[in-house]
Amino acid sequence: MTLNSGHTIPQLGFGVFLVPPDEAEKAVSEALEVGYRHIDTAAIYRNEEGVGAAIAKSGVPRDELFVTTKLWNDRQSGEQPHDAIRESLDKLGLEFVDLYLTHWPAPAQDQYTNAWAKLVEIRDAGLARSIGVSNHLPEHLDRIVADTGVVPAVDQIELHPAYQQRDVLAWADANGMKIEAWGPLGQGKYPLFERQAVVDAAAAHGVTPAQAVLRWHLQRGFIVFPKSSRKERMAENFDLFGFELTADEVAAIDALDTGDGSGRVSAHPSEVN
Ligand code: NAD
Repeated sequence: MTLNSGHTIPQLGFGVFLVPPDEAEKAVSEALEVGYRHIDTAAIYRNEEGVGAAIAKSGVPRDELFVTTKLWNDRQSGEQPHDAIRESLDKLGLEFVDLYLTHWPAPAQDQYTNAWAKLVEIRDAGLARSIGVSNHLPEHLDRIVADTGVVPAVDQIELHPAYQQRDVLAWADANGMKIEAWGPLGQGKYPLFERQAVVDAAAAHGVTPAQAVLRWHLQRGFIVFPKSSRKERMAENFDLFGFELTADEVAAIDALDTGDGSGRVSAHPSEVN
């Protein structure tokens, strides 16, 4: 997919949230062997060194890789984002990241507008090809764009069939921003794989429920990077291009949205500081 920065991003990637630091190198090495070329990490995951080690050993040319990391909430103020990106790049062993995100708005600190202005400088300095945000609601997006005139390339938000955040999707459509769906499988905490629409779509195409849900994300135009520490599941989650859901199947999975926010499986942006 092409981002508003003009750079392209592989729509399917590999996420490393909760991959322990000493296991990250092995997990990312296996993911690269499976064929993933887009890795999503964050300073707070404390596994950037392992991600970097796997990249260095892989021999995959840098221009074939897409690497995202994120600014943690305690580095949003003053000039700290500049220090934070340099530390992340050191750990990753990279000269630039493909995408750098403000991890949460952390509205109680009221520093996310400063963080965004610093990310613009970081992009202009060549340390991040594209910049974006994560867990930002329309009110946060409106404010950072009013301040800087710069629309994030992406907003990475919790998104899966039961929790679709349609207000953020509408903002993205109206402003030329892409959506990255974290927790695309509901983090295993929501019984997505038992929902009839998912079971039926999977059966119709001879795929697993996880593959049906991930395919739904791709067809809805979301960027996804499911996480698994098991190589066979990494391969399963990467094997999404041999089938296509029908419009009716997509619509049936769309209808799993609870609409009232009750499908959310993790923290709300107002709760995280
Ligand atoms: P996910 O929805 O990808 O769920 C991961 C879990 O689903 C795994 O631990 C495993 O138990 C299960 N799973 C994976 N593949 C499966 C399969 N084929 N069949 C059955 N079960 C399977 O959740 P996630 O890891 O939280 O989200 C993906 C990525 O999003 C993360 O690794 C991270 O990179 C990113 N993320 C970002 C934020 C943020 O605040 N920006 C928050 C959470 C996650």
